[in-house]
Amino acid sequence: MAEYKVPLKDMGFLLNEVFKADEMWQKIPKLAEQVDKETAQAILQECAKISEQVIAPISRQGDETGVSFKDGVVTTVPGYKEAFSTYAEGGWSGLGGDVEYGGMGMPKVITAMHEEMLCSADISFALYPGLTAGAALSLAKHGSEALKERYLTRMYSGEWAASMCLTESHSGSDLGIIRTKALPQEDGSYSITGNKIFITGGEHDLTENIVHLVLAKLPDAPAGPRGISLFLVPKFNVNDDESLGERNHVSCGSIEHKMGIHASATCVMNFDGAQGYLIGELNKGLNCMFTMMNFERIGVGIQGLGAAERSYQNALEYAKDRIQGRALTGAKSPEQAADSIMVHGDVRRMLLNMKSLNEGSRALSSYIAMQLDYATYGEGEEQVKGEALVALMTPIAKAFFTDLGFESAVAGQQVLGGHGYIREWGQEQLVRDARIAQIYEGTNGIQAMDLLMRKVAGSKGEMLAVFTTEVNAYIEANKADAAMAEFINPLAQAITDLNELTTDLLTKSQANKNELGASANDYLHVLGYTAMAYIWAKMAKVSQAGLENNGDSGQDFYKAKLHTARYYFTRILPRRLSLIASANSGCDCMFDIDDELF
Ligand SMILES: Cc1cc2nc3c(=O)[nH]c(=O)nc-3n(C[C@H](O)[C@H](O)[C@H](O)COP(=O)(O)OP(=O)(O)OC[C@H]3O[C@@H](n4cnc5c(N)ncnc54)[C@H](O)[C@@H]3O)c2cc1C
Repeated sequence: MAEYKVPLKDMGFLLNEVFKADEMWQKIPKLAEQVDKETAQAILQECAKISEQVIAPISRQGDETGVSFKDGVVTTVPGYKEAFSTYAEGGWSGLGGDVEYGGMGMPKVITAMHEEMLCSADISFALYPGLTAGAALSLAKHGSEALKERYLTRMYSGEWAASMCLTESHSGSDLGIIRTKALPQEDGSYSITGNKIFITGGEHDLTENIVHLVLAKLPDAPAGPRGISLFLVPKFNVNDDESLGERNHVSCGSIEHKMGIHASATCVMNFDGAQGYLIGELNKGLNCMFTMMNFERIGVGIQGLGAAERSYQNALEYAKDRIQGRALTGAKSPEQAADSIMVHGDVRRMLLNMKSLNEGSRALSSYIAMQLDYATYGEGEEQVKGEALVALMTPIAKAFFTDLGFESAVAGQQVLGGHGYIREWGQEQLVRDARIAQIYEGTNGIQAMDLLMRKVAGSKGEMLAVFTTEVNAYIEANKADAAMAEFINPLAQAITDLNELTTDLLTKSQANKNELGASANDYLHVLGYTAMAYIWAKMAKVSQAGLENNGDSGQDFYKAKLHTARYYFTRILPRRLSLIASANSGCDCMFDIDDELF
């Protein structure tokens, strides 16, 4: 496998030139105290080092060995403990954490780039700190002072890790039917009993304690999602002097053997009257969990990008070296037995698909992360707008980026031909590791329903209008610029078509709700490709200016960006046309066939 190189130049381009992040940070007091352009650059450079030099090198061995389980004890793979200590000692576990409790308070746009690096290096490894950061966010927002003081600091320091315990064997997408019970105790705590499955990092040997966030119901709770509460259940209880106390009644029953992410422990967790502490209000557990889930869903989307970037780097290195066949227009390297496979249109198609989708995903995820920063730290109109855009874009980040991530992982494998299928080159590991991101943290089907039913139809189109208004303003501002016409015209058409499709689907769904379920996946991708076109147009504009304003040294970067932007608009954006046709085709072709006829 090619040595992983963090795309730092592209990240700097996005932060400093496309989104001008520093200008935003300096306007928001809470961010201005923590970060500026130089700090951000130093952080990304340091994170690149640990990703390239400490984590990427252990990924292959981790995949080969896999986690092991014996008598309730989960042992992680060789090298993980040392790498995790190095990671924790560097303060990375608290990168986005609340400064009052020892976090570094970095904006999401920085932590998102950090997550991409970790995921390119090794998704399995990235899951342990990723879940801890998500759990910490939920605790910081909804936990009592006492819980925060006791647990948050040590989660940020990396001394303790966390897990997220939602799924039960009969309850995955539908959390309203969970059976785990919480009984109130005289001391104000709760006794938690039930079984959870598929729990990432539920048990391991990387940290001395694990903080489980568990969904459970009180016996008299309302039925369905409105009766769910959230509890903090530590693996080891904590004494008043902060030392570790007795082992709590929570244990790992077994681990799963799975297609990919072999070095990530996926655990069956048994809670047998474990002591737990309420987070937030009773029966409002799903709201608290959604704080974590919104954060995690962007992070899971970025897992797709992480695998895709690694796949591109491998495939490109291989394609440059591999010689097979001749260019259709005549031998390009007659002195060799054959030409490099880079001469073949189909190989260039695969590489450019990956390149344009990866750079587009990185840019769109940075845009969404900045909206999350406005929503978290901003004020007034900017904050309200940020919240609407985060709500709209979170299912897109999760589902669109992971679908594209898997597409790119497979495309990279295809570039390597048979060598992509055998283990030696590491390409097949990326395909196996990338696949899960489409499934967990709410399947991509559930994300599509969330987008179309809850966000778009639920707000009667208002949430979508927040986005299209911004894009229309950009189109208006640039429509007189002849050099931008090749980007602005198709973007304007894409927005018109998106609005039309939205109106058609919402109208049809009034007669038959199945219209939404039948078209949700297509709709999510139409909106995803359109949003990515907006971001590619912005990158093209900045690159045109970059070409004019920079001497020879910077030219290649901007030239490559402009070529890739053109590729996106001419070869990728038209995908939306077939998706629109499918979405518009109606639900009858799906529902007219009786179940027995399947
Ligand atoms: C490796 C791994 C790690 C995981 N880590 C965690 C973890 O840390 N914590 C945790 O709590 N869980 C975890 N999960 C569980 C994961 O989140 C669930 O598997 C996932 O949410 C889907 O639930 P399910 O498997 O029960 O599928 P189901 O809910 O049974 O879904 C089956 C199919 O039906 C579709 N479907 C279901 N309902 C609807 C609907 N209303 N509309 C449209 N389509 C629908 C789904 O999209 C899917 O295609 C993990 C799973 C795996 C495999």
